[in-house]
Amino acid sequence: MPPTLSQLEQEKRDLLRTFSQLGDLRPGSITGIVRRCGKPTCHCAQPDDPGHGPNLRLTYKAQGKTISEALPTPIAVRKAEREIAESSSSSVMLSCKSTSNCAERVRSKRP
Ligand SMILES: [Zn+2]
Repeated sequence: MPPTLSQLEQEKRDLLRTFSQLGDLRPGSITGIVRRCGKPTCHCAQPDDPGHGPNLRLTYKAQGKTISEALPTPIAVRKAEREIAESSSSSVMLSCKSTSNCAERVRSKRP
């Protein structure tokens, strides 16, 4: 028996809820922090100096807490970039695809 319109609408609502929560599932992002050490004699005290760094860090959420990890080497940066790209693209693509499939089915059922 094919699903009813209200079943499909419920399915779409569930998918959209999942989709709206995806932001937290992403394992993180890479941020660059340019630092000023605060010593008045240091080059970074000059207004047009770019400062120290940037120090790249991987920031992600785990158990409700934001965790920031240093990425000290270019190899660590590349590894983090790859991990973020893999997990975010696969889960976003999957959710996007099933949401639009479901929306399509709801549209086709509408009178
Ligand atoms: Zn400095």
